[in-house]
Amino acid sequence: MKPHDPECMDIFARLSEYLDGELSPEECAHFEKHIEGCAPCVEFVNSLKKSIQAAHGFHSPAAPEHVAPEAESRLKEAWAAALARRRES
Ligand SMILES: [Zn+2]
Repeated sequence: MKPHDPECMDIFARLSEYLDGELSPEECAHFEKHIEGCAPCVEFVNSLKKSIQAAHGFHSPAAPEHVAPEAESRLKEAWAAALARRRES
């Protein structure tokens, strides 16, 4: 696992744009292609989906986490920032 891969950090930084559909089709394809082949990003996106579902009133049982605690806390910060930006817009 490479949780601190610079490309992963770029992916995390742009996630809110991706979720808001602000990326071009080419950027979306790059985004999805990276995530498909990157375990840390897969875990991140899965956790985001759970967060989104929770926000919409779905309460699924907690799934096992495979992300290192340090990486997970970074991801949660990135997600919180993304959510904050979505609320502002
Ligand atoms: Zn990645």
